This record gives sequence, structure tokens and C-alpha cells, in this order.
Amino acid sequence: MVAKNGTETNNEDKLDVLKSTQTVIHKALEKLGYSDEVYELLKEPLRMMTVKIPVRMDDGTVKVFTGYRAQHNDAVGPTKGGIRFHPGVTEKEVKALSIWMSLKCGIVDLPYGGGKGGIICDPRNMSFRELEALSRGYVRAISQIVGPTKDIPAPDVFTNSQIMAWMMDEYSRMDEFNSPGFITGKPLVLGGSHGRETATAKGVTICIREAAKKKGIDLVGARVVVQGFGNAGSFLSKFLHDAGAKVIGISDAYGALHDPNGLDIDYLLDRRDSFGTVTNLFNDTITNKELLELDCDILVPAAIENQITDENAHNIKAKIVVEAANGPTTLEATQILTERGILLVPDVLASAGGVTVSYFEWVQNNQGYYWSEEEIEEKLQKILIQSFENIYQTAEARRVDMRLAAYMVGVRKMAEASRFRGWV
Ligand code: GLU
Repeated sequence: MVAKNGTETNNEDKLDVLKSTQTVIHKALEKLGYSDEVYELLKEPLRMMTVKIPVRMDDGTVKVFTGYRAQHNDAVGPTKGGIRFHPGVTEKEVKALSIWMSLKCGIVDLPYGGGKGGIICDPRNMSFRELEALSRGYVRAISQIVGPTKDIPAPDVFTNSQIMAWMMDEYSRMDEFNSPGFITGKPLVLGGSHGRETATAKGVTICIREAAKKKGIDLVGARVVVQGFGNAGSFLSKFLHDAGAKVIGISDAYGALHDPNGLDIDYLLDRRDSFGTVTNLFNDTITNKELLELDCDILVPAAIENQITDENAHNIKAKIVVEAANGPTTLEATQILTERGILLVPDVLASAGGVTVSYFEWVQNNQGYYWSEEEIEEKLQKILIQSFENIYQTAEARRVDMRLAAYMVGVRKMAEASRFRGWV
């Protein structure tokens, strides 16, 4: 296929999350009037570390894992972002994810740049002891470039508060100080924050509410489909169900469930395992592809990248698509959905609730004084409602789609900070 600017794009390019992020960053900077030098600075992370982590497995053999930590841009402040444990982790993906973190921090106006880490592994097939050794080994390997004022990790796909606790402990031992501000998403007893576990889902729920208002859809009785039943998807289904919406479809990596009368979300939450698997308990399942095309009002991709593409975007029936996952919609699909009048709330806005409450956690660690759940909730609501409105208004005023508007808002502070520092 030949794109508008005359360059060739093939299917692999369309699914290349780093390339598509760079395309939108370039457009956003152009719209804001920045030079190509700024783009050259921001198109890749400033720093990318690859590490090898040897772990003695339970069977006595040593397995050497590969891990990454990308730091996109620290002009605004220390870099910040999660660590994912997944067999599909790639260097390119981690780079793209670090850029998305920069954008999220810009959108909700946190004093951070973006970072991201990943380890190629399958925690579903590892014991508790092996996971602990891997987590500690990774922290030792990246210790030179991370720290409470340098780069602050957090949970992501298949990592949780226990893994954050081991990592914090390992860092504190090396640092010879108790360093709770080194990492966020910790258990409450180790300096974690109220509301952090549910923060991503809360943020998505706030965005859904705001988007529904714009589209004149009443959340009570609205038919919602959620792809993915991990940290974001499961809590989100619960919040929407409790708000009176009808969750008619959910899925995990192995299949999907559909009931036009609404699923029993409390039962499903009770039966899911710690990796978000639940459909294996049922005979009557549909595929993830069928799930995305169900007749519904609101569709929430909350799983992995590249789920809505130019192959299925024409068949999406929802009026609102809210991206709880990172990168679930390709650029071609974004254009198709926008042209069809579907309101798309992009990942860098919709999933920014997690890092926002991570920031609250870090602030509480730094000041040694902790806030109540109500205080956290109130602060999160205020920030996300404002950010949604800002991006919605930018999209209207500049006549661009919501993704480009979000990138314009997200990239601006970073570009300005880099300029003031004299980097460009
Ligand atoms: N992993 C989450 C994200 O992708 C949270 C990052 C954080 O809390 O720093 O937004």
C-alpha cells in the first residue's frame, strides 16, 4: 500500500507500534509548530538498557532471561513507567511504551517523563521463588539507571504489588536506605497508596462517563463490551456494572463470553485467576474477534496491542471506543472509526489513571504523610475530567482526531522543557 506521503507501508509496518507512535508524534509536533530537530530528539528513548538475568530455576538449571529498561525523555523530571513480564516483550515495544508513558505524564501534567521496562518470560509457568529471583536480578541489573529521583518503575502486564515489594526490598538493600519512593504499586503496608490497584480502571471509568455525556448516552443500561479481564478489564467491568451499565461481553487471552442480558460480573470476578483467566470455565464461548464486533454502545479494548485494525474497524458497532490497553487500535483503524463518527478515547488519556495514582504514591512516600482513599479519588477525578475536556476541546478546535489531539497535549510540555534546557 502507498501512503499519502508517497512512502510504502506494508502490513508489518501498520502493526509496528513504535513506527505508528513516531508518525503521530511527528504530526503533533508539526501541528504545534516545532522543528524536525525536536522530533529527532523525541522519536526514540534517550536511553535503552538491555540486561541478561541469570536465574536458578526450581529444577536446578540456570535460565538466562532478557530484560529491558527504556527512558524516553527526562527533561520534565525523572522517568516513570511500569515493568511487564510477558513472553511477547520486544525491544521496540518497550521503546514505544516508554514514549506512551511520556505522553500520559504530559496529558495529566505530572512532573515526569516516560520510562518502561520489560522482561521476556512467562510468569504463568514460573514458581513464586523463580519470580522473586527474576525480580531481584532485574533490579540489580538496572540499578545504575533507576532510583527515586531518576526513574521510578511500577506494575504493568503480569506484574503486581508482590513483585513491586521484592523489587523495592532489593533496591533498598543496595541503597542501604529504606527507599519506598523507588517504585510504585507497592502493597499498602510498604508505602503503597490507597486506590493504586484500581486506579487504571477508575481512570477509564471516568473517561467513559465523560465520553458518554458527549454522545448523549446514559451509562445506566448502556451495553458495554470489555476485551481483557486483567487488572484494568476486571475492575473496570465491576465499576461499570455497579454504575448500572450492562456488561454484555468480556474476554481473556483464550476466548470471550457474551450474554445480551448482561453477564454476572461478581461471579466472574470471583472465579478469575491472578492472570485474568476465566473463560476456560465455560463451554459456550465466542472468539475475541467476534467479541469486538458485538452490537453494543461502548467498547473497551483492555488487553493487548493491535486489536482494532483496518480489517475489523468497519465492523465495530459501538458508538464509543475507550482504549484501556496500550496501543489496541492501529492508525488506519483510528481514521476509520473517526470517519464513522465513533468517539475514540485514546490510550494515552484513558489509561493515565494508573500513573496518576502512582504519582500520588510517590508524593506520599517523599513526604511520609499518607492520604485517605477519598482524597485520592477526588484528586484523580479532578485531573482526569480536566484532561479529557482539554483533549476533547483541542480535537474540536484544531479539527483533528482524539489521538492526535492527545499527542499534541502530551508532547508539548516535554518539547518546551527540552527547549528551555537548551537541548534543541
Ligand atoms: N503500567 C502503567 C501504565 O502503563 C502504570 C505506570 C506507572 O504507574 O508508573 O500506565
